Amino acid sequence: MSDQLTDRRNFYINGEWVAPAQANDFDVIDPSTEEACAVISLGSEADTNAAVAAAKAAFPAWAATPVSERIEKLEALLEVYKARSGEMAEAISSEMGAPMSLSSTAQVGAGAGHIKALIRELKNFEFDRPLGDHAPDNAILYEPVGVAALITPWNWPMNQVTLKVVPALGVGCTMVLKPSEIAPLSSALFAEMIDEAGFPAGVFNMVNGDGAGVGTQLSGHADVDMVSFTGSTRAGVAITKNAADSVKRVALELGGKGANIVFADADEKAVTRGVRSCFMNSGQSCNAPTRMLVERSIYDDAVATAQKVAEQTTVDAANKEGRHIGPVVSENQWNKIQGLIAKGEEEGARLIAGGQGRPEGHDKGYFVKPTVFADVDPTMTIAREEIFGPVLSMTPFDTEEEAVAIANDTPYGLTNYVQTSDGERAQRVARQLRSGMVEMNGLPRGAGAPFGGYGQSGNGREGGEWGIEEFLEVKSVSGWTAPAQ
Ligand code: NAD
Repeated sequence: MSDQLTDRRNFYINGEWVAPAQANDFDVIDPSTEEACAVISLGSEADTNAAVAAAKAAFPAWAATPVSERIEKLEALLEVYKARSGEMAEAISSEMGAPMSLSSTAQVGAGAGHIKALIRELKNFEFDRPLGDHAPDNAILYEPVGVAALITPWNWPMNQVTLKVVPALGVGCTMVLKPSEIAPLSSALFAEMIDEAGFPAGVFNMVNGDGAGVGTQLSGHADVDMVSFTGSTRAGVAITKNAADSVKRVALELGGKGANIVFADADEKAVTRGVRSCFMNSGQSCNAPTRMLVERSIYDDAVATAQKVAEQTTVDAANKEGRHIGPVVSENQWNKIQGLIAKGEEEGARLIAGGQGRPEGHDKGYFVKPTVFADVDPTMTIAREEIFGPVLSMTPFDTEEEAVAIANDTPYGLTNYVQTSDGERAQRVARQLRSGMVEMNGLPRGAGAPFGGYGQSGNGREGGEWGIEEFLEVKSVSGWTAPAQ
């Protein structure tokens, strides 16, 4: 191992940083340079078992802690997270390639925002409720599900980690986090923050590893009560199957292929906004609006605008100042994206910006040209598969019904977007779209809004009261009478 590499080979188990049971070094690659920037270990079954055992042992006491005490610890965590946000921005930027301008704002900010919003939600959450006036001696008690395995991807690392860890901690679950092995540095730092915030030993544990190893060991583990997973639909299916024998709860947040329906009466920035949003985070967002459906009367103008926006989008290294987009995360992703761009050309879509190969001036780093295809038929591969790169498909439509039909013609159903100044139409279309989220006219979802999908985009909801309920069992008790005062 080179001396310059950050050494993150230990795991956080039972309140201690411990060496892996057996050495299995794995380099973390900086996608801007293709060079290793840190080394971690891929865990083995002994490490998984140790982490699960620690979580299991810590569960009874943590579950019995008053919620106000758990919230105090989360408030301490938020302070540490804010104090160390600069380190977090650097970790995310080097592990997955988000430029510092994005990493220090949206990437780090998403984590802080979720911690804050979930604390607020936990303060309001009623863990004990009456069933109703018709049954005055019936109580409904919400109780922590137990030991949770939390498996996360690399594209918005702290967004996903906080959406799982914070509600799990808040309701009294104990847990094992397995972050993406491709972007594990932010989670190692997050584990340090948990330690600094003073959570009891064993409540939060972190083991690194890959899907075939630690990921599979967790989803099949007899002492894990629940898996909360964010990542690809492929892995979500594998986890669900492996969890079935032990009848675990499985909450899934999977891929997407969002449609952005632009009607002729959309505001004048709608197309520019849609292209930028598709390219954000180098196109590596599950909710990216990757299929722009445009009403035919404004289609040619929209194509010209999209071409201009793509040509103006600059691509550069993650550690450089500026509003450029960074590389994609890995060689595998780069190759996959190149293959899909080639497929778009082969299948007859009209390439109007970008295309195959690295952008000019970059012969190293996993950089992708901001790419736009026009005249994309909804049956083409690029209109159906999640590309996870800065690649936009544009398709014209003639009627509202046709636009809704194209938008819904996908196995996914995460986020769809609608651009129109006709309020009635906006609401009519929003109701017809088969997706967990609909964002209209560039207005973002509010803090605490539930995030999740229909169909093959998953079955879970994160954030807000919905994201808290995911980690709770519901107990129905009769004969419940209030204690005498
Ligand atoms: P991935 O599925 O390859 O990996 C995600 C995590 O799962 C990693 O930690 C990985 O090690 C682990 N894993 C892989 N195979 C596993 C298995 N068989 N058992 C257990 N664990 C396994 O996904 P990725 O490439 O890291 O992330 C990109 C994907 O995540 C995209 O499809 C994207 O749409 C999706 N995503 C979804 C959301 C959402 O909330 N819906 C958010 C972000 C990303």
